[in-house]
Amino acid sequence: MKAGAVTPGQKDSARVMEMVDPTPREGEALVKILEAGIDGTDIEISQGHYGEPPIGQDFLVLGHEALGEVERNGGPDLCDGDLVAPLVRQPDGCINCSSGQSDMCIEGNYRECGIVGAHGFLRQYVTEEPRFLVRVPQNLRQVAVLTEPMSIVTKGLTQSIEFHRRSANPIQVALVLGAGSLGLLSTAFLRLQGFNTYALDIVPKSSLKGQLIEATGATYLDGRDLHINELPRQLGNLDLVVEATGNSTVAFQAMAALGVNGVLCLMGVSTGEKRLQICADCLNMEMVLGNRVVFGTVSSNRGHFERAILLLAEIEKRWSGWLAQLITRRLALVDFVDALQPALDGIKTVVAVC
Ligand code: BGC
Ligand code: ZN
Repeated sequence: MKAGAVTPGQKDSARVMEMVDPTPREGEALVKILEAGIDGTDIEISQGHYGEPPIGQDFLVLGHEALGEVERNGGPDLCDGDLVAPLVRQPDGCINCSSGQSDMCIEGNYRECGIVGAHGFLRQYVTEEPRFLVRVPQNLRQVAVLTEPMSIVTKGLTQSIEFHRRSANPIQVALVLGAGSLGLLSTAFLRLQGFNTYALDIVPKSSLKGQLIEATGATYLDGRDLHINELPRQLGNLDLVVEATGNSTVAFQAMAALGVNGVLCLMGVSTGEKRLQICADCLNMEMVLGNRVVFGTVSSNRGHFERAILLLAEIEKRWSGWLAQLITRRLALVDFVDALQPALDGIKTVVAVC
């Protein structure tokens, strides 16, 4: 079978390679991969900044956002023909991993398919235990490749809302920084909950991103015309801010702009070593005097995947056709190396595998 792989740590090593077809072990399902989404993490890995091969191997099959079809069910939990989204993180034996919360792993010996220590899903077939496969309804076939990014959003925003519940004042202003796929899915999540939502990026309002933001009833803000520190004056107390640009400077600007009792959710992985001068006293004082919460969120567990699938269905129902517009480029597996060139105004590239 064909696979899209890299040599971790080696820039521009992405290539299409041949692998032997996997044979399922007792209890494992054989899954034909239909599509895999490409995100910033895949690009970071392909540039040599991130990622680790499985132990004893020198290559890593990419792809952690995927949709597959069960070809041999491997047991009673799945049926042949089921659509499934595979989980990314595989647990170690720590207390959180053992209780279904591998996303909160405390030991750090987990593996992440397509990222750290385990091959990903950018290949024609994978074998997997059913507990790592989440069933997706057939009517979500066209958009269910977005399950994994939606699960990341589901985890981060559910926790944000929980943290905000410390105080009686409601969330009156929610702000999303960045209108890539995580930013757009965050905006849709917040609009489904009925929050007054703003989303900022650095493209014109007339762009696809701007249009998709406004189609949910959120307000698009063109970040080329305004600075984040002006936003509290314009929008009011920033109760909930989602950082989805992955730019650490933006993360610190968001901390400084966060409102009283506000919650800032950091979702972006920054692999560089950028340094920044900040007023440590000011930031510390603002955090303390304003009961502010700044937290990071990574990965997602089975519960988040299951909730994400329900949310994708809700988004489909509420704004029909909206999710499909997030997929701005589809490529065949043989052309997957092109997918690692980020398109400026593109949102999500999906590789059709089978
Ligand atoms: C993936 C997560 C993963 C994280 C860090 C993200 O792109 O969506 O599943 O935990 O990268 O490796
Ligand atoms: Zn663990």
